[in-house]
Amino acid sequence: MDADVAVIGVGTIGSMTMWRLAELGVEAIGFERFAPGHDRGAAGGNTRLFRLAYMEGAQYVPLLKQSLGLWRELSEQTATQLLVQCGGLSIGRPQDASMQQVAESASSYGLKLQILQQAEMAEKYPQHVLDEGELAYFDPEAGFLRSEQAVVTAAARAESLGARILRYHRVERVEPTRDGVVIEAEGSTWRVRTAILALGSWAPPLLPSPPAHSVSPKRVLLTWFAPKSVQDFEPEVFPVFTRQSGSDFLYGAPTADHASVKVCGLRPTDIDDPDRFERRHDPVELARMVELLRAHVSGLHPDPVRSAGFTDLYSSDGHGITGHHPQTPNIVLAGAYSGRGFKFAPAVGDAVARLAVGEAVPEIAFMRPERFATRGSHR
Ligand SMILES: Cc1cc2nc3c(=O)[nH]c(=O)nc-3n(C[C@H](O)[C@H](O)[C@H](O)COP(=O)(O)OP(=O)(O)OC[C@H]3O[C@@H](n4cnc5c(N)ncnc54)[C@H](O)[C@@H]3O)c2cc1C
Repeated sequence: MDADVAVIGVGTIGSMTMWRLAELGVEAIGFERFAPGHDRGAAGGNTRLFRLAYMEGAQYVPLLKQSLGLWRELSEQTATQLLVQCGGLSIGRPQDASMQQVAESASSYGLKLQILQQAEMAEKYPQHVLDEGELAYFDPEAGFLRSEQAVVTAAARAESLGARILRYHRVERVEPTRDGVVIEAEGSTWRVRTAILALGSWAPPLLPSPPAHSVSPKRVLLTWFAPKSVQDFEPEVFPVFTRQSGSDFLYGAPTADHASVKVCGLRPTDIDDPDRFERRHDPVELARMVELLRAHVSGLHPDPVRSAGFTDLYSSDGHGITGHHPQTPNIVLAGAYSGRGFKFAPAVGDAVARLAVGEAVPEIAFMRPERFATRGSHR
């Protein structure tokens, strides 16, 4: 065997898995078709939102709490500030499903959550123009992650603990054998006991079917706007936010570069090929984004200073696919985090690492691949 475990795809989840495997003392080899920290996959665009009081479901809170500890641990180990905990606002009507989920996440797990009514919002966060009936929940543990830097840092930490990462090694074939898995990349062959597929949007050709038919790569657009006064958008005064106002959904983060402010609100769209998709906004998309900004946020020039498209793999139910391959237990699947996966990547990486060494990991049972079907073969 060339290693005990192979991690194929050293992006967001793969880099965290490499780090956790290295901490467990497992001999691991990573394959990345580019270099960790590239911006062609799901980690591009500088920042990702982190929230504990989670509108996507209370079942994520234990993973998010564990991730918070792991983000801090990785930051301390490497003397790098990966998470800026500036707090986070969830804005909307309290009767909206997303706001109810935030409140439920907080009450189920004893999270601190402050309710800010219109008058307090106008005084504290005048950048947000609230509609009638809207209020905000403030989650003091929320913030933003430095995304590409986090991937690079986790990969480097894994290497410093003895892991091997093969950059610019595109895996072409993953074949289960009687006692392990054979991997082919760049004209060479490797044999490992267990292979973890953490391929992001590139996963479908290497996934078993199902769940291959329950996932699709999507294009996700980000936009940044120039502040009229940058002091009004620094992390100390402008927390990360998500906002549901009628059918408009927006999210954003404070300035991470003292120059631009990320505010986004366009819905992800399906793409056929993550290597060939339009990374620029078209004029209609830009106009829609400006319209959203004008309606809901003040203090930013309504003309994006930067716009870019990235890609992530989405599952049909919006939850990740994480667990042993249904027919081939030597292969572990980790993907389809559906536009949500950065914040809990260290906890998922830790769970995947423990799965690979034979532990049971009940906290990610809701992401098991078998939920899509019972039949299928590896391809
Ligand atoms: C624009 C955008 C904004 C987002 N915002 C947030 C947010 O605010 N908060 C949040 O929590 N989540 C957010 N997400 C979601 C989150 O970023 C993703 O769910 C997560 O990064 C997915 O990680 P991944 O490891 O599955 O994919 P990736 O990070 O893309 O990693 C896959 C890796 O596999 C490599 N690879 C692919 N094929 C091969 C091969 N054949 N051989 C070798 N290597 C290969 C790729 O090069 C890549 O590095 C956002 C996503 C996008 C796109």
